[in-house]
Amino acid sequence: MELDDDIRSLKGVGEASARQFGLLGITTIGQLIDYYPRKYEDYSVISDINRLKPGPVTIRAIIQNAKGRYARRGLHITEAVASDPTGSVRLVWFNQPYRATAIKSGQEYFISGNFEFTHKQFAIMNSSTELVNEFPINTARIVPIYRETKGLSSRQIRSALKQVVPLITTLPETLPKWLVDNDQLMNWADAIEQIHFPSSSQSLSEAQERLAFEEVFSLILASLLNKYEVMNEKAPVVPFDETVAKTFVGNLPFKLTDSQRKTIWQIYLDIQKDRPMNRLVEGDVGSGKTVVAAMAAAMVLHRGHQVALMAPTEILARQHADTLTKLLKPLGLDTTIGLLTGSMKPKQKLLAHKAMADGHMRFMVGTQALIQDQVDIKALELIIIDEQHRFGVDQRKTLIAKAGHMPHVLNLTATPIPRSLALTLYGELDVSILEEKPADRQPITTEICSPNSRAQIYQKIDQELATGHQMFVVCPLISDSDILTVQSVEKVFDQLAKQDFKKYKVGLLHGRMRADDKNQVMQAFIDHKLDILVSTTVIEVGVDIPNVTVMIIEDAERFGLAQIHQLRGRIGRGRDPGYCYLMLSDSHAPSPRLRALERSNDGFKLAELDLQLRGPGAIYGTLQHGQLDLRVAKLSDIKLIARARSAAQSFIDRKVKLLQYAALAKRVKHLRALTNLN
Ligand code: ADP
Ligand code: MG
Repeated sequence: MELDDDIRSLKGVGEASARQFGLLGITTIGQLIDYYPRKYEDYSVISDINRLKPGPVTIRAIIQNAKGRYARRGLHITEAVASDPTGSVRLVWFNQPYRATAIKSGQEYFISGNFEFTHKQFAIMNSSTELVNEFPINTARIVPIYRETKGLSSRQIRSALKQVVPLITTLPETLPKWLVDNDQLMNWADAIEQIHFPSSSQSLSEAQERLAFEEVFSLILASLLNKYEVMNEKAPVVPFDETVAKTFVGNLPFKLTDSQRKTIWQIYLDIQKDRPMNRLVEGDVGSGKTVVAAMAAAMVLHRGHQVALMAPTEILARQHADTLTKLLKPLGLDTTIGLLTGSMKPKQKLLAHKAMADGHMRFMVGTQALIQDQVDIKALELIIIDEQHRFGVDQRKTLIAKAGHMPHVLNLTATPIPRSLALTLYGELDVSILEEKPADRQPITTEICSPNSRAQIYQKIDQELATGHQMFVVCPLISDSDILTVQSVEKVFDQLAKQDFKKYKVGLLHGRMRADDKNQVMQAFIDHKLDILVSTTVIEVGVDIPNVTVMIIEDAERFGLAQIHQLRGRIGRGRDPGYCYLMLSDSHAPSPRLRALERSNDGFKLAELDLQLRGPGAIYGTLQHGQLDLRVAKLSDIKLIARARSAAQSFIDRKVKLLQYAALAKRVKHLRALTNLN
């Protein structure tokens, strides 16, 4: 038997069940082995019949008098009597007519099932039975429960796996021996056997630990290898110039937060080295990442070299170009900041390309348009990627390749990835965290609103708008249909513009509009020619208009936790308090997710919660890391992560040849491609 063998080579797996296995992604024996249980039920304790208590039980008893009958149409009942030296108990099965003939009367069985009181008697219901002289897989042990599919039960999966155990026991170790010894890990073959057929809860948890360790270890090893590869590259040294830093800070209308100061200092240290910087600045919405990016850029521009900033949306790119122009102006650099976005006219684009290529334009801000083929940025020393998680690995790589050499890279993200996750995912990145928000920030009050409270809420909002503040109204995407979405946004717009807020100027913004029109509406809102902007989630990232203090999120249950947090980060960015109203479309009780948003404004806390509510898949999803596939490891297990990290570091320090370990090498190669941010 081999790992590559077809699942149909197993006894009891014919064409029909092979199709069912196929639905679970299992076509080979190797994939079957790789199909870990979803959970376990503990039937390992064998009770005396005279001691049975209601609930899941296992007995070891002789079965007799198995008889089946139809109680009525559609209800078949099999009954039997099981006896051990302490007494007897009734066994009952519903709609399993084969039971009566399958049971060998007078033989001793393990019997596992639920002991309960039904029809005026105690009985063990719908139990599994296995002869005691066989290797039990459904009874008398910790029984694995698998994710099933219609027509394929855990029982069948177990029976297939049981046939594979001899192969499992010969599986070679995947990790170096010194590592297995040092970390006192269960060996690979035992761990796989134990994960399917645990012999005790102790050995099950050792097996889980081993598999979890391996998952995290290979992930961290992959990202460390990526890191060392980059570190072997040369990057231009950008010396620190005190005057530049002082002038910049001296002209800010506010004081930098401690986190901002620390982060900028780390960046300046990074770019003074001849190794490429690869830093991730993680900061909640509104923590002030743009200033940090501007200060990094200032140092490079001062040397006469080029900087590129890529942002995920055109609205954001435009805003950045404006903000950066203002921030850098006091430095008196002879630099214009250029803009390159998809909606620009071909002629304008051409001019921008030219200005960049001949080095005339030194700071280029743009969208994905920056990574198009024609663009050539020779003297590029620093790349800033805003909302880093919005871009795929390939997009970031392409931009970096424009430089023709390895530039310094600064990644900004507002996705507050819990620290444990950041350390695992971004092992190759240096991470700076903006922990606090600017001190003068006022809190955002978030309120969940039932449909019938709308009039009352509108009154409050009216008072707020009357003081000269502005409001965003955000509508959800509707079943992924552009057309329906546009219709519903337009409906809300009409209602507000013609009825509820007709004394204010209301604007409309959605993805189907022409880029020119979008820009115009956005500009009008920025210039306060509009009081209210009704939009889809196009405003989700980055937009910074401090005068906007109110946000209504329509049909809030349609949004994810992180998304609402991002959205409401658009308000409360100035000196005034913000108000975010989460509108429910029906009178059901709000989800725990919305409740959490009402209670907490802390993106990191909310991200931890999201991790608990939805599992790491959710966070990976937003990070385009869906395939990282941690099945056993919990990213909240900081100790495990620390151990795996130091093991991965030793692996590198010992200069171990990865290719010696075929299975590990294969996995690491796959993960390197997924996690590579260079
Ligand atoms: P984000 O981290 O979400 O990208 P921004 O960089 O857009 O946040 O900053 C949000 C707002 O806070 C901007 O208007 C910016 O000028 C302001 N800001 C940044 N740093 C500070 C600070 N230290 N004190 C006060 N306001 C600040
Ligand atoms: Mg930002």
